[in-house]
Amino acid sequence: MSRIHTLPDLLISQIAAGEVIERPASVVRELVDNALDAGASQITVRLIEGGVRSIVVEDDGCGIAKDDLPLAFKRHATSKIHNLHELEHVQTMGFRGEALAATNAIAECSILTRTAEGAHAHLLHGQSGEIAPAARPVGTTIEVKELFFSVPARRKFLKSTATELAHCVEAVRRHALVRHDVQFAIWHDGKCIEQWRTQAEQPEQRIAHILGDAFAQNCIHIDHQQGPLSLRGSIGVPDIARNRADMQFLYVNQRHIKDKSLAHAIKSAYGDVLHGHKQPIYALFIDIAPELVDVNVHPCKSEVRFREAREVYAILRNCITNALAAPRSTADAAPELIAAETHTNATPSSTTHLLNTPTYYPRTPQSATQGVAEAQALWASAKQSAPHGVQQRMHELDHAVGAGEWETALGQRPTTTHTGGSNGDTSSPETKQDAIWPLGKALAQLHGIYILAQNAQGLVVVDMHAAHERIVYEQLKNGISTNQLHGQSQQLLVPVSFSATPLEIATAASHSDTLEQLGLQVSQLSASSLSIRSVPQSLAQADAVALTRSLLAELEQHGASDVLEKAQNAILATMACHAAVRAHDALTLPEMNALLRQMERTERSDQCNHGRPTWKQLSHKELDGLFLRGQ
Ligand code: ADP
Ligand code: MG
Repeated sequence: MSRIHTLPDLLISQIAAGEVIERPASVVRELVDNALDAGASQITVRLIEGGVRSIVVEDDGCGIAKDDLPLAFKRHATSKIHNLHELEHVQTMGFRGEALAATNAIAECSILTRTAEGAHAHLLHGQSGEIAPAARPVGTTIEVKELFFSVPARRKFLKSTATELAHCVEAVRRHALVRHDVQFAIWHDGKCIEQWRTQAEQPEQRIAHILGDAFAQNCIHIDHQQGPLSLRGSIGVPDIARNRADMQFLYVNQRHIKDKSLAHAIKSAYGDVLHGHKQPIYALFIDIAPELVDVNVHPCKSEVRFREAREVYAILRNCITNALAAPRSTADAAPELIAAETHTNATPSSTTHLLNTPTYYPRTPQSATQGVAEAQALWASAKQSAPHGVQQRMHELDHAVGAGEWETALGQRPTTTHTGGSNGDTSSPETKQDAIWPLGKALAQLHGIYILAQNAQGLVVVDMHAAHERIVYEQLKNGISTNQLHGQSQQLLVPVSFSATPLEIATAASHSDTLEQLGLQVSQLSASSLSIRSVPQSLAQADAVALTRSLLAELEQHGASDVLEKAQNAILATMACHAAVRAHDALTLPEMNALLRQMERTERSDQCNHGRPTWKQLSHKELDGLFLRGQ
């Protein structure tokens, strides 16, 4: 080993570039960050050969004063913060003063810039440091040519032009999604390939523009405020979930981030309505007081650390759980109701009654978060201001149409089967009530599998087993508490011991209550082993060690409430499957109607327990289309 010495400046920047600049898209991200920090309202990104040959970012921001220009490519030189206090409250995208220096160390860079005060523009050449007078309107153009020309080893890691281009476009798209007030354009090899205009674009319009119409038409809007945190954005309904996690956008204070824990919070909120292999689509924006989040934990600023990470996790999860809970058949019910009511000359009082209640509250789920006081408290407050809900809306529906006549409880249905449709259609002929119910009035059963119903929009087709399975499952979830699960454990004749990591032993000790609630008794045997004395009855056949290990891993990562709820739900789902009406059970029309009414008031009833849809609407228009009617 040689003596300790300080590294030359250029090498330090090249080392920093190793962290900050992975590929052309990293440069694009940094340059667009800078343009946004400069207050730009129009940003144009010009790329040649996927950005490898050249990246040019033009903005109409504030520009850089001539006197500051020599510092622009200096390491740790920034106009954005002065001290630790400002770092802790930072609102800009950048603050490390590193990106331009790092880029300049591995590419040929230049800055052409002009401030509002400047008589003309200046051009700074990165390598030589020379500054020359130049022409340009107020704003900045930064050019980065021949990326990694001085570090050929890095250049080898670059992928095809198409791949690098796709990453660059994605980097701009991430900015465009959150900054709907800024106009973006991307040019590649001289052609404009992507453009997002502002022209009075609302946040939702920008989201629709970027994520597509299919998402815009099948998403749920979220707008939630809790303490110092606000959460807004849109999440896709389970039906449009994807095979890849390529349409998931999460922001904290306008910064696109990758956060495993928060991604897990969202995924687990979908857990009960989405098949495990499917990936939800979302664009979610968290805004939180800057002092409650540390953005200085990652060189690319793509990760953050929350001071109250558990709370943020719980709010995100609960908020999305609630948003997904309301059956979508009733989501548009109010306008339909109003239309129907007007149509049938209903009393004005009921109409105004509906119009005046824009906020709906979900019922109180007796979920497994019980007993976990902290999560429960958050849950309660998150719930209170939840945008969507079922209970209230259904109460209003009942009220509006004087319901109660459909209250045939399917749950109390005798096990004997009836002959479908031949007996007891006690409903009146087509009345205004029938048109009002979101899922309509049952017409018939098809092949013992589907219920056909008529509603205001057209034809509704329901998978009766799938729908009933969900209803029973939700009833079970609402009726059971973790205490009832307690005791359903089976003592092992011979305790099973296994070697455990220190983390596993610590987790087992701190979560022993939760484990016992699940019917699992785990205790420490030695400094490096645990012993299992009992396992949950329903899982007695399972590999106790594998089960315990995976539970410990989940407890350690996600805390007690998540694990309890997941474990409990798995058991209840199995029970629900057995209790639900089976395919080929013949249902009477009143029973079918009862099922439809229960679907309308059951949370998550649009999806069966395995994440498949329970019903589909065929609109008048779609039906007419099938028969080329009116064409
Ligand atoms: P940081 O963004 O962390 O401050 P950078 O290396 O990205 O560090 O940029 C250094 C400085 O150069 C910034 O602080 C800013 O003052 C200036 N700058 C960079 N890009 C622009 C731009 N497009 N418009 C105005 N100023 C810019
Ligand atoms: Mg920057």
